[in-house]
Amino acid sequence: MTTATLLCPLCGRGVRPARGARQRWQLVACEACGHVMAPHANGEALQQRHFGDAFAGADDGWTRAVDRANARRVLRVLGHALTPGARVLEIGPGHGALLVALAAGGFHVEGLELSPAVALATSQRSRVPVRVGTIERYSRDTGVGYQAVVMRHVLEHMSDPVGAVEALHRLLMPDGVAYVAVPNIGAPESALPGWTGYQPYHLHYFTPARLRALFERAGFRVVSIRTREPFSGWVNAVVNSLRTRRDDGEPGPAGRPGRMVVGAYNVARFAVGTLLAPLRVVQAWSGRGEEIELLARKPERV
Ligand SMILES: [Zn+2]
Repeated sequence: MTTATLLCPLCGRGVRPARGARQRWQLVACEACGHVMAPHANGEALQQRHFGDAFAGADDGWTRAVDRANARRVLRVLGHALTPGARVLEIGPGHGALLVALAAGGFHVEGLELSPAVALATSQRSRVPVRVGTIERYSRDTGVGYQAVVMRHVLEHMSDPVGAVEALHRLLMPDGVAYVAVPNIGAPESALPGWTGYQPYHLHYFTPARLRALFERAGFRVVSIRTREPFSGWVNAVVNSLRTRRDDGEPGPAGRPGRMVVGAYNVARFAVGTLLAPLRVVQAWSGRGEEIELLARKPERV
């Protein structure tokens, strides 16, 4: 598929090459609404290549601690929106930290995952059933059934975000809630080529306003949409950008650094994250934090 034939999924208009850091990643932007996307035709094959059966993901102490902290936060948000014992589906559960937290919180939890090998590993680790399939197919086979669906850092990987949000809507019972997190291309770090949101497998880049529009169009009522500035957002973006410049190549995964380097890096991340705390608060509060968190409800009468 070429840029000339590619249309914006949000408004149906044409796209043109994006500028600045986005140009380095060969992204395109809608000429009408500004939505930024990658011009890849086959999203599912791309995801299988990056997150297929060989994918294990980062699994160091820092990642596990961040996973658990995020799981606790999502559990708090969902706890306010749900009754105990509610049936919850997580799409793309990763290592399963949230599945474990939700099960421990008294919910009936299931996962849905694209890769059979990842589904099996996550299911064994979390002791929560994880099915294999795409959200579109699963929602057509299963239909209405969940009081909540959680989808964290998955929507930006999908070639058809409109179809994905419609599938979420199908999976939810009336009054059910969707919790969705994606990177925010409205964050100031996105001006840097090493921003962690830029990934070869990210196909769509949302702002809070465009994510809201996508959900409202599918029939959701948006309960809250907030942004969050993660602890290491700036450090990671700056370090990746400098590394890119030194290599003078595409930003990408370098060789695995040694234990000492990782240790020193984590100390620096912690120090800078703490120093930048006031900036992070202002950035998140003004809707420019690098992660968007959306909570939306399927109205009781559609
Ligand atoms: Zn558009």
